[in-house]
Amino acid sequence: METLMIKVDKENPSAEALKPAVEMIQKGGLVAFPTETVYGLGGDAENPEASKKIYAAKGRPSDNPLIVHIWDFSQLEEIVSEVPEAARKLADAFWPGPLTMILPKNDRIPLETTGGLNTVAIRMPSHPVARLFLKESNVKIAAPSANTSGRPSPTLAEHVAEDLSGKIDCIIDGGAVDIGLESTIVDLSEDVPTILRPGYINKEMLEKVVGPVRIDPGILDANANKNIRPKAPGMRYKHYAPKGDLAIVEGKPEDVIREINRRVEEDQGKGLKVGVIATKEDRELYHCDHILTIGTRTDEYSIAHNLYAILREFDELGTQKMYTESFETPKIGNAIMNRLLKAAGHEVIRAPHED
Ligand code: AMP
Ligand code: MG
Repeated sequence: METLMIKVDKENPSAEALKPAVEMIQKGGLVAFPTETVYGLGGDAENPEASKKIYAAKGRPSDNPLIVHIWDFSQLEEIVSEVPEAARKLADAFWPGPLTMILPKNDRIPLETTGGLNTVAIRMPSHPVARLFLKESNVKIAAPSANTSGRPSPTLAEHVAEDLSGKIDCIIDGGAVDIGLESTIVDLSEDVPTILRPGYINKEMLEKVVGPVRIDPGILDANANKNIRPKAPGMRYKHYAPKGDLAIVEGKPEDVIREINRRVEEDQGKGLKVGVIATKEDRELYHCDHILTIGTRTDEYSIAHNLYAILREFDELGTQKMYTESFETPKIGNAIMNRLLKAAGHEVIRAPHED
């Protein structure tokens, strides 16, 4: 299959340019498009065949549900069995934007789209290209991230092409995305709203709107353990995985730098191709053949923005071992560490302290 590339102006997209993509999605085809979080791989959410094609193109397990994208709140009312007050309040506060809500679904959304679940994940993106595409096609668009399953999520159209060219009908190229991390997912299908995936919209922001919010204990566990972990298969499911081995090194800044340099020297001595992910502040302090700068410590959004692109860059370099400092990112609900821990398969090294 030939994949059509459509380039559009991010700030001022034209409906005319999107026409071929609109026709494809209406006919049950697959179209990748930019959102403010990452690029999505879209298909008609009400068409089970389109959803099946999404799973096939990504190589995604069919029990991992898709997020349904809409551009108007009335579309949510069409696909859920009830609209709780919390959903209205959260939509008023954060939509359009990087928040996904999970609600009980009705029959219009097929089980193929929800991975067999009776709930549906819904999001209204704010990206001008995504909004225009949703509006022009008048289709509710099921869209997971537009990467091959297990690879870092795409933040550029080129990343989508790397993974999916020849497997999907069209890629809408709107340039670099804004946030660079997937949406916050909040489950509203139970009594207390629960964060299933941390993102740009954090717990405190949600609580100001709907009162107490829980965080899924699975996420908390991963962040709480500061020790070296044994390789336990269940804990080590690599979701956002680079091709080489990534390890996170924690501890006092000077201990972390010393430990990373020590390990780099050892690995390079064995003839391995080694990489370091560094902040702008620390870059000069590392001695390694391949150092990539992720952003600055004073701006956690810069770190979010570059994370996935850096993991892909290391893949291209053929890096076999990678080390990264850990990052405190409280504003985005520790979303960076959540993604890094997955990318690293929970490989966390505690740097020994030296006075
Ligand atoms: P992606 O779009 O690739 O970021 O993946 C969508 C994420 O949303 C996956 O982690 C899914 O497991 C999650 N998700 C989608 N629908 C549901 C649902 N109904 N219940 C729980 N999680 C969901
Ligand atoms: Mg994904």
